[in-house]
Amino acid sequence: MTVRLRPTLTTLPAYVPGRSVPGAIKLASNETSLGPLPHVVRRITEVAGEANRYPDSFATELGSALAARFGVDPTQVVVGCGSVSLCQQLVLATAGEGDEVLFAWRSFEAYPIITTIDGATGVKVPLREDVHDLTAMAEAITDRTRLVFVCNPNNPTGTAVREAELRAFLDRVPPQVVIVLDEAYREYVIDPEVVDATTLLADYPNLIVLRTFSKAYGLAGLRVGYGIAADATLSNAVRQTQVPFAVTQIAQAAALACLEPPAEKELRQRVEDVTVERIRVTDELRAIGYAVPDSQANFVWLGNGPAEQGGIDALAFSTGCEDRGVIVRAFADSGVRVTVGLREENDAFLAAARALRARPVPADHQTDDTPDGF
Ligand SMILES: *Cc1c(COP(=O)(O)O)cnc(C)c1O
Repeated sequence: MTVRLRPTLTTLPAYVPGRSVPGAIKLASNETSLGPLPHVVRRITEVAGEANRYPDSFATELGSALAARFGVDPTQVVVGCGSVSLCQQLVLATAGEGDEVLFAWRSFEAYPIITTIDGATGVKVPLREDVHDLTAMAEAITDRTRLVFVCNPNNPTGTAVREAELRAFLDRVPPQVVIVLDEAYREYVIDPEVVDATTLLADYPNLIVLRTFSKAYGLAGLRVGYGIAADATLSNAVRQTQVPFAVTQIAQAAALACLEPPAEKELRQRVEDVTVERIRVTDELRAIGYAVPDSQANFVWLGNGPAEQGGIDALAFSTGCEDRGVIVRAFADSGVRVTVGLREENDAFLAAARALRARPVPADHQTDDTPDGF
């Protein structure tokens, strides 16, 4: 082939989606195990018959409903084909060749990919003990920096930064640099010191907060997320970079239904079930001997490291889980992310984790707690 492609594509890291294996328990993509909320499924069925028409390209009704909910002007809200699309649009709107996009690492694996596709330069600031190092991030800002991603809670470590340190960081970011607070897992936060970033919009004109219906609301397959910008200049710029008709009318209607009281009630129960299970899974893993950072999301993280310090080898651990019928998400160089699912799914994972934990057991205390048949 002699077609000319952009050279930057050869340097592109591949996005590795969580794998689905028929018959196995999938805890690899931070989805909900249950289907969409029952109230929302009813609405999806009702609007299916309108699929011959193009959707409202700017999701006006959904945008207005979100604006009302957050007490902002509708011009500050932008709806996208999943919030990952909004991440990409934000990079397109702010950075080009020679410009820098700053983010923690490891964090959401889409950040370096969309930055590279755009032709901008990604600057990765290592996590400190699995948490955003906001001091180092502030120091890494240069006059080339156009955009900063802060993923809170962080995917894949689940850790969250608290209000005081977040504000201290935001205070240090120059006003011309756009700050993206990616709150894809906000619904699962229970630590009262982890601030809802939409309450910071009034203080930071260069801030935009991203949320999604993919995670807690269970609509990953419909692709709908939104951003709330402190200033409409930014949300308008994001709208300019959108592919026309990016959000289907079924996705828009489903998202609207998510905001109605029956869905809210269903959501609250589900989120509580997950956070209770998150605590149980974390405690159990620690009891087995794994080092697990505190998570505020719907997943937990097991980092690579020496077994004596509670660490794992990501590939060996994920293969071991798969052999036992549980699919987790491995990042070969750093660790494994495991979605918190239904109680019985988590039990299957915990059984695998127990079996995989090579711990020295005195010869006269050998017990076989590793059931076969997984
Ligand atoms: C899942 C996820 C998203 C976006 O998901 P969409 O399905 O595109 O809305 C954004 N950021 C982070 C950190 C995520 O984990």
